[in-house]
Amino acid sequence: KLYNQVQDLRGSIRVYCRVRPNISGKSNISTIGYFHEGNITVNTKFGKEGRRNFTFNKVFGPSASQEEVFSDTRPLIRSILDGYNVCIFAYGQTGSGKTYTMNGPQELNQHNMGVNYRALRDLFNLAGQRRGTFTYDISVQMIEIYNEQVRDLLIGDGANRRLDIRNVSQNGVNVPDANLFPVSSMEDVIELMNIGQMNRVVGATALNDRSSRSHSCLTIHVQGKDFTSQTILRGCMHLVDLAGSERVDKSEVTGERLREAQHINKSLSALGDVISALAQKSSHIPYRNSKLTQLLQDSLGGQAKTLMFVHISPEMDAVGETISTLKFAERVS
Ligand code: ADP
Ligand code: MG
Repeated sequence: KLYNQVQDLRGSIRVYCRVRPNISGKSNISTIGYFHEGNITVNTKFGKEGRRNFTFNKVFGPSASQEEVFSDTRPLIRSILDGYNVCIFAYGQTGSGKTYTMNGPQELNQHNMGVNYRALRDLFNLAGQRRGTFTYDISVQMIEIYNEQVRDLLIGDGANRRLDIRNVSQNGVNVPDANLFPVSSMEDVIELMNIGQMNRVVGATALNDRSSRSHSCLTIHVQGKDFTSQTILRGCMHLVDLAGSERVDKSEVTGERLREAQHINKSLSALGDVISALAQKSSHIPYRNSKLTQLLQDSLGGQAKTLMFVHISPEMDAVGETISTLKFAERVS
């Protein structure tokens, strides 16, 4: 049954919407009306339309736990060990809960840890269960794309080095100059993720919260070797915490801030174009239009599996971004 489930996911994209709890403390009014299974209704107080309905694979409400949110990701983890590539995205405006879903809150524990940790924990468990017939090597990379430049998050001086993306590599590693660390336990993973998070913050000042204006990508490479046939299977998973999708008012920002906004805008639309071209089985998939889509080329479309968590904030003052986020999600699903 699980096998069929995995087969069904091939080449398709699943879109999950997650609404974070109201945390602003300013108002308890939520723009979210009704939600059930894949349906969600948004009340747009000022809009002419008044009310909008959207349909996705599933909607997770404000009280959904990290474990529930991860549950449908499980079959994908198994498929990496079978040699498939997987991409998981967190999309949404700044403050909508992307990092919470992928990583978790500041103070991490067993219950609140996010998709990244859960995926690796499952991967270690599954690889362990198959020991005897297969040996698995699991390693990770962590990079950031900022202003269309790729840098390594797993070295101290990564900020100054720009890395190239290559799509011709034999071993499935397409940023060969980024550090690739072998991992065999959750302790290893937690240590590396902490380094990555720290490096992501180091490049930022209080006024320049870079983490919301860059895409960060944790890539897990898995290589399995069958003892008897000597067959080698390679699979990988990209876990991507995207830059904030909010539109900036071009009349109000200038200089560096405008440049950042233009880069984000360009790469998020390139991602949307690729995914919707794939969904429409178009003969031309425009991977070359951004660093992000170039990076993920081998893991979007074809035999690969894609899952997007689309995040929305329930507050009234976010309603404009909420609608445009849900429209983006509708377009790619
Ligand atoms: P983003 O990465 O999209 O900018 P964050 O993940 O940093 O947003 O979330 C913004 C704030 O909301 C953080 O303080 C985070 O801990 C909190 N938060 C987000 N999602 C949830 C949730 N599902 N439950 C509880 N708190 C959440
Ligand atoms: Mg974030």
